[in-house]
Amino acid sequence: MNKKGILLTVFVTAAALLFSAMAEQLYRRVETVAVPAPVVLIDAGHGGFDGGAVASDGTVEKDINLAMATELSVVLRLWGYRVEMTRDSDAALCEDESLTIREKKRADMAKRLELYDRASAVISIHQNHFPDASCRGTQVLYAPNGAESRALGEHVRSSILARMQPDNNRELKASTREVMLLYRTTAPAVLVECGFLSNPAELTAMKTTKYRRQMALAIVDGLLKFV
Ligand SMILES: [Zn+2]
Repeated sequence: MNKKGILLTVFVTAAALLFSAMAEQLYRRVETVAVPAPVVLIDAGHGGFDGGAVASDGTVEKDINLAMATELSVVLRLWGYRVEMTRDSDAALCEDESLTIREKKRADMAKRLELYDRASAVISIHQNHFPDASCRGTQVLYAPNGAESRALGEHVRSSILARMQPDNNRELKASTREVMLLYRTTAPAVLVECGFLSNPAELTAMKTTKYRRQMALAIVDGLLKFV
């Protein structure tokens, strides 16, 4: 091969290598853009003017919900999920003082629903309360909008039961219109009533980081089987 031929071969080889490197980079980019990590929305129930249920020792549901939701967000991020939260402080999504409580509640719900409908999956965190203090055990509800919400609910429920509450026989339930956000959202969504604020043992447990972390791990374990 003459000098010209060698130069041409080197040039063609270099161009081919550069092209394949660029193509690979481009492919990775397209892949990242096409399959972004799922966005999981965590909804810490209530907040601000809306405290939710109150335990006999004065513990307010909104505070337990936020602590639980925060723990869940930490675990989810560790697993590589993109996480959004409806709130990360003690504030409702509408705190307009010129509105009545009823109007604020309606505006708050409308904003939450908007966030729900944009998510790949929604986990709403609440606590139960019942006059009979012996009632205990996590209750999972799912949005009645299709098989995905039900499947998500089944995974989350069975994971919590397997890891933490083998004697819990509460059935998975479809939400009724009373749970407005779950009833109306189009996204795969579940609501986890983690425990009963009216049950002394569960109230004590829900106030500890250790128990909340266990609950977060169990919920994420269920979610991993879904998205
Ligand atoms: Zn609640």
